[in-house]
Amino acid sequence: MVKTVDEINQKIREGNTVVFTAQEFKKKIRDGEILTPEDVDVVTCGTCGVMSGTMAILSVTVAEPGAFRRADSISLNGVPAFPGPCPNEGLGLVDLVVYGTSHASSSYGGGNLFRDLADEKEIEVVAESGGKTFEATIYGDELPYAKMITSRSAFKNYSAFVNAFPDPVSTIFSVTPLSGGLSQATVSGCGEINPLQNDPEIRFLKSGAKVLLNGSDGIILGEGTRSSPDKPNLSVSADMKDMMPEFMGGFRTSAGPECITSIGAAIPVLDERSIHHLSVLDGNIPLPVVDVFDRKTLGFSDYGRIWQDTDHRIAANPMNCLFCGECPALMQCPTNAIMPGGGVISSRCVNCGTCLSSCPGEVYSMNTGSVFIDGKEIPVVLRQSDRNRGEKICSELKQRIEDSLFFIGGV
Ligand code: SF4
Ligand code: SF4
Repeated sequence: MVKTVDEINQKIREGNTVVFTAQEFKKKIRDGEILTPEDVDVVTCGTCGVMSGTMAILSVTVAEPGAFRRADSISLNGVPAFPGPCPNEGLGLVDLVVYGTSHASSSYGGGNLFRDLADEKEIEVVAESGGKTFEATIYGDELPYAKMITSRSAFKNYSAFVNAFPDPVSTIFSVTPLSGGLSQATVSGCGEINPLQNDPEIRFLKSGAKVLLNGSDGIILGEGTRSSPDKPNLSVSADMKDMMPEFMGGFRTSAGPECITSIGAAIPVLDERSIHHLSVLDGNIPLPVVDVFDRKTLGFSDYGRIWQDTDHRIAANPMNCLFCGECPALMQCPTNAIMPGGGVISSRCVNCGTCLSSCPGEVYSMNTGSVFIDGKEIPVVLRQSDRNRGEKICSELKQRIEDSLFFIGGV
């Protein structure tokens, strides 16, 4: 049986599409079900994690028209942005670009700012022009223009990082300095639910195809920077006004703030080839283990060791809290998800695992898995991708398709 995208979109319009999330589809494969294109129309895939190549283009009203000629510099909550490219001469309005990796401090950066904009929190803007300072308070929902663009995101298969040298190293791939001697690994990538992993020939995830970016309807602009046939990634864009804060945020690494981004994509099931590609499982996806210094690949593990028979969510037992005074877990949590008082975690938690090693009271627990190279098992101390949120994006997209709110391709 062979279906067309138009036929599937017609079923979506009529409200009788069969949609599985990637996690539902994979479970059926693991259970030994033989699926055909007659059984399913669409599989929703997703990924959530630290994605450095995320930026926003905003248009911000700073002062009355005529107050200044053009902005020389501008910041939002202290995060520096680039005024322009349009000079907006004399309008009191500043078009700007802000990077998800720019930062105001070691704990607040563009990723935090993007989430605060989506949360409609108060944002302090400071612009300099001709030696004068102009200040304004803005809210994300009041911006006349706010678009997010990723220069590269949703890598099909990312890497695990280790430190082969003896001394610890601070890197964007670790929250606390990464111990040497191949004693710790950090890992990125959502494995079998990643959109590109399920469309390896890139039949559908092409320029113009619809996606969800942080929960907002967006489109694929094309391949991202450093995309290659072996390791493809996507450049995508969406309006920020409809973004859902839970899918985005800041993430503090030992080398500065980074940006959490989520992407969801719908893969239509047209034929047996689609079924074959969608049947990929974590254990079959190679995970290159890379030295964090020179990025040389030291060996290959697999995503099954990260996401199968492990925990996807952190658990907390406040009864174990030792009340250390200045809570080390709270201080080191890269998303500021730990509340004062010990063991209380907010929705900002991305299940990274940092609190496991920073808490002496064993308040937190989660099996984060390991990588295995050259007969050596190296424990994962940090996950920079959140499979739990990736699965939530899949569920969110499934619901929208079932509600006839999301169509396949560029429709
Ligand atoms: S580090 Fe752990 S034991 Fe110490 S105060 Fe924080 S939660 Fe409690
Ligand atoms: S797993 Fe722990 S350290 Fe990581 S975000 Fe959640 S609470 Fe913070």
